[in-house]
Amino acid sequence: MISVEEAILKVSSFFYKAIPISISVENSLGYVLAEDVLSAIDMPPFAQSAMDGYAIKFHDSLEYTIVGEVKAGDAHVVSLKQGEAVRIFTGAPVPQTANAVIMQEKTTVANSTLFLEEQPKPQQNIRPQAEQITKGSLAVSKMSILSPSAISYLTSLGVTAVKVFPKPKVAIVVTGSELVQPGAPLTHGKIYESNSILLANTLKKEGIIDYEIYKVVDDFKHTKTLLDEVTKKHDFVLVSGGISVGDYDYVGKSLKEIGTEEIFYKIKQKPGKPLFFGKRAACFVFALPGNPASALTCFYMYALPMLRYYSGIEKPHLPRVNRKLSHNYTVNGIRAQFLKAVVKGHSVSVLSQQSSAMISGFIEANAYVFVPEFSTEINENESVEVILLP
Ligand code: AMP
Ligand code: MG
Repeated sequence: MISVEEAILKVSSFFYKAIPISISVENSLGYVLAEDVLSAIDMPPFAQSAMDGYAIKFHDSLEYTIVGEVKAGDAHVVSLKQGEAVRIFTGAPVPQTANAVIMQEKTTVANSTLFLEEQPKPQQNIRPQAEQITKGSLAVSKMSILSPSAISYLTSLGVTAVKVFPKPKVAIVVTGSELVQPGAPLTHGKIYESNSILLANTLKKEGIIDYEIYKVVDDFKHTKTLLDEVTKKHDFVLVSGGISVGDYDYVGKSLKEIGTEEIFYKIKQKPGKPLFFGKRAACFVFALPGNPASALTCFYMYALPMLRYYSGIEKPHLPRVNRKLSHNYTVNGIRAQFLKAVVKGHSVSVLSQQSSAMISGFIEANAYVFVPEFSTEINENESVEVILLP
């Protein structure tokens, strides 16, 4: 059995990044850029009017002669002489010879004459060409996570494809003869299977959509055959259940028989002690305990950082902060503990429901209070380490 810190370090020592691929910008949400993107154009590509109003070429009077109109999208070139103005609209190209745009609210017009209230400032209400970015300069840097705004920016620069770190292909293998699919009758001794949807949605939230769910009863031959198959097809395998010491827990034995290298098995923590981490050829296996809260805790602390790192994320671990405990807490047991908790401002409270068999505590929780091994009593107002949940 190893400590939480050792387990985190062990998993981290196997971190690797996927080989970048090219994908369309429109499908790149949440991906990490694998290269700097330079702009192929000036943005804006031409001097634009920032207002609906009049573009003018200065002279020594508040009266100008209106000689034409330019609206957004127009391509015709207007050349203004001193004292002339054109009607212009937001986003329209400003005539090269114009040196200001006047808001229409600050003007009056009679026939073809424009009257200003005051002399404008040079270049006012003109967005200069390349104001946002110049052709050839850095638009979005390597390792950025592509957000809706980053994608919109790249699209405004005419980018259609980007090089990104791909997301992993993941297998979710659910074991247990007691499990039935919701919708089917719940006969005595059975429970509804809920870990596959838990893991699948947690992956989806990370933008990992290339996953497949497999189910197997507690049978050695079937478990071994399935694990043999999925470890050949996926980058990562997440197993739920069957990794403990019960007579019908066949995951460990199956992994061993198909030649999976054990990196570690069992961590001095609660919940989630019987985590197995191993490697078979190019595939990494996280065999998570079946209790839902244990499975999720092991997923967050060990599997998720590795999946994120693979996808290009540089700081893949859940963030840690210090907060003051809002009440006394008696620690139960000597293993390190991940206590479901609620952080509010500078303080944190531990929830009453900590059973590893119950997922309900996670509905309210937004963090763990991390209690190191061999802790006993934590007092109100004591600073504790808090791990923020995604
Ligand atoms: P195991 O790790 O297989 O010994 O399972 C531990 C506990 O978690 C047992 O009470 C199981 O019934 C429960 N469990 C295992 N897998 C699931 C699942 N996929 N959905 C809901 N509960 C599960
Ligand atoms: Mg089981």
